[in-house]
Amino acid sequence: MTFKSRTAIRLSDGRELIYFDEQEQSHRADHPDTRQLPPPPPTSQLRYDPLVDEWVAVAAHRQTRTFLPPSDACPLCPTKPTFASEIPAPDYDVVVFENQFPSFSDRIPENEITEVTGMVPVRPGVGRCEVVCFTSDHNSAFGALPPSRVRTVVDALADRTAEMSQLDGVAQVFPFENRGVEIGVTLHHPHGQIYAYPTVPPRTKLMLAAARTYLDRTGRDLYTDVLAAERADGARVIAANEHWTAYVPAAARWPFEVQLAPHRKVPDLPALSDEERDAFGPIYLDVLRRFDGLFGKPMPYISAWHQAVVGEGRELGYLHLQLFSIRRAADKLKYLAGSESAMGFFVNDIVPEKAAQMLRDV
Ligand SMILES: [Zn+2]
Repeated sequence: MTFKSRTAIRLSDGRELIYFDEQEQSHRADHPDTRQLPPPPPTSQLRYDPLVDEWVAVAAHRQTRTFLPPSDACPLCPTKPTFASEIPAPDYDVVVFENQFPSFSDRIPENEITEVTGMVPVRPGVGRCEVVCFTSDHNSAFGALPPSRVRTVVDALADRTAEMSQLDGVAQVFPFENRGVEIGVTLHHPHGQIYAYPTVPPRTKLMLAAARTYLDRTGRDLYTDVLAAERADGARVIAANEHWTAYVPAAARWPFEVQLAPHRKVPDLPALSDEERDAFGPIYLDVLRRFDGLFGKPMPYISAWHQAVVGEGRELGYLHLQLFSIRRAADKLKYLAGSESAMGFFVNDIVPEKAAQMLRDV
């Protein structure tokens, strides 16, 4: 199923909120935000680190964001007579709204335009951060959603990707979900986020350079060939259907890491066909079930959509989902320690073929 109606409203502080409803809903706008919120904070600052040629976002206002509130004060549940949440309606299917504590936004105070501090250029963190609620059920999880709801979520993410790609200064749109307190989740309600980045993120820069080099050398698309090689080999494939394959990368960095890619090269979610969108839910839910089944308890995970950049290098992008966990055993977490955090050199404790076998055996 996809959404039947799309209703955009403004919260009391001017932030946008959009309902994606699976049934016709003509009364969403009848529920205004009754809170008297202060104006949203100004945008973050980007500082350029010349030593590694990377930008860092500094967003001091995020220190005050809501941290693991009790369930009767959950800002992502629908509004109840006793508590006005971020979502004014008494129920919803999928809802997206601008983050109250954004890492990037277009609210730039005039005195904060580009300046340079010695060797470190500074610029405003222009962009946008949104929150995506997958269900109004506080105690559910993405893995417990029906495939029809996954389709609605994919369509909502595609809608947001298309719109946010049009914003001034946006370099890449990144939808993701952090799941579990072990990952650092600050709200239990099932939700994801979308970042519209003002510069191409470091990992994407590396991927673009690798794809460019490969294309120049072979005349071929890198991700297409990696996916074909994984499908031909099969040792690390977890699941596949007509349109998608899920596999553990041969050089996985994380104890349990899966990439889920469409067989047809598309730049981003908006470019997926109807059939590809429908085929995604069942295979993704299967992979999530395998993750949770590994140790018989919910896996903390990060689920990340890699989409093509908006500008230069867009033709090199191949949409894929990267899903990984920091749990390496029932009672052990993988921490990014010296080698990974200081040097960026990953040491994986689990052989990828073994991880793939464990995931297939669930
Ligand atoms: Zn909730």
